[in-house]
Amino acid sequence: MIDTHDSGACYSPNLDSSLFRDAMEVFHINTARIPCREAFRKKSLHSCDIEQAEQRLIRFAPFICRIFPETLPTNGIIESPLIPAQRLLGAVTDGKNSVGRLLIKLDSALPIAGSVKARGGIYEVLKHTETLAFQEGILTVDDDYSTLADKRDFFSRYSLHVGSTGNLGLSVGIMGSKIGYRVTVHMSADAKQWKKDLLRSHGVDVVEYQADYSAAVMRGRDIARSDPMSYFIDDEDSADLFLGYAVAASRLKKQLDSMKITVDSAHPLFVYMPCGVGGAPGGITFGLKHVFGNNAHCFLIEPVNAPCMLTALTGEDCMNTTGEPTKLAHISEYGLSGVTIADGLAVGRASYLVYSMIHDTIDGEFTVDDDRLIPYLQLIHDTEGVFVELSAASALCGFEGMLSPAGQKYIEINGLQQKMHDAVHILWATGGGLVPDEEKSALLKYTREWCLRRPLYLMQALK
Ligand SMILES: *Cc1c(COP(=O)(O)O)cnc(C)c1O
Repeated sequence: MIDTHDSGACYSPNLDSSLFRDAMEVFHINTARIPCREAFRKKSLHSCDIEQAEQRLIRFAPFICRIFPETLPTNGIIESPLIPAQRLLGAVTDGKNSVGRLLIKLDSALPIAGSVKARGGIYEVLKHTETLAFQEGILTVDDDYSTLADKRDFFSRYSLHVGSTGNLGLSVGIMGSKIGYRVTVHMSADAKQWKKDLLRSHGVDVVEYQADYSAAVMRGRDIARSDPMSYFIDDEDSADLFLGYAVAASRLKKQLDSMKITVDSAHPLFVYMPCGVGGAPGGITFGLKHVFGNNAHCFLIEPVNAPCMLTALTGEDCMNTTGEPTKLAHISEYGLSGVTIADGLAVGRASYLVYSMIHDTIDGEFTVDDDRLIPYLQLIHDTEGVFVELSAASALCGFEGMLSPAGQKYIEINGLQQKMHDAVHILWATGGGLVPDEEKSALLKYTREWCLRRPLYLMQALK
């Protein structure tokens, strides 16, 4: 059943893949979704794993505080604000629709890395650091972890490798080099120059690839494998990254509680998350479903030219019956280019691990045209004074799509019509914090002029 509405977006329980093959915007409702509790039973990771990750971050807090004094206000816990976005809500709904509240989760303001990667990337570096320190007898679980700040010489014997479209490299590179590791970041062709420059200023070795993201990851993996002193952070296959992201959920719950915002069966939560390889939005989804169960409605957003998770979610034989990891399709197999101005989302192949963790709980996915990201970025900036990367601006497509006729179908199917007044919607602003001022002003100048040249575009961009 395909229901195309005026903007070209589609609703479909059985998505016709020819639509995304043609790089059309689509809304896919996940028909493989089952009740969370049932889904969790089949997973290799559980709530205790998320709790352990949380505890580990707490153990490391005194260390983080010491090496990154900007985390003093939160005692070494790396967390971001959750802010109301009433003006943005007004602009998007034109005051007409009663759809509940709109909030923005400002991961663009996460300390140290300025993006959602400060969750997963930093967590995995810390976990590896703890493992090495335990192994070599320089730390026990009861010690004061801040003493690790005096062990740079020890860690300088080890190296870290990571493949990145930019932000994961920043997160691993900045944290890793501060601890003392030799860090090599394998950058895909899309990575921004300033990200490479910033990493090099931290003493990180940046290797550039002309090919796409999967190629950079593959190369990094091979190099690291041949050296016993090196460790590879595998964005395509890392339970640690995933768990680092998942910790966001219980933290979000605390923030909602302190804002006196309830999430329960009468007050649904909608979360819109930009998706690249899947780790960040997948981990957050996994966490949210553990905290809020089926009352959390989680949506991924991918560029029309790089919808790798969508191809996995709609593909036929992603899961083989023995549960062996199968390689997911590459978007080039669908004739898609992978080219997008949302550089953090320019990923050709989704993580199988993430796919297997969320394929039966994720609620749906929106794909977004690059052209829409420009007015989105501008609108988020003009209404809320928040600067986000183009990748992060894509989250708005999800909220907007939920208000569209396609989204209404989802609301109907899930019996949420009467509850929308009391819903809370969260745009996950995944990055933008480290963008240098000159880059920011240049981008804002570009987006402003772009919007001025197309006075109606902003309205059209709002479906
Ligand atoms: C990495 C990234 C994402 C997506 O995270 P994945 O783990 O690749 O799915 C979204 N937005 C920004 C800004 C990112 O850097």
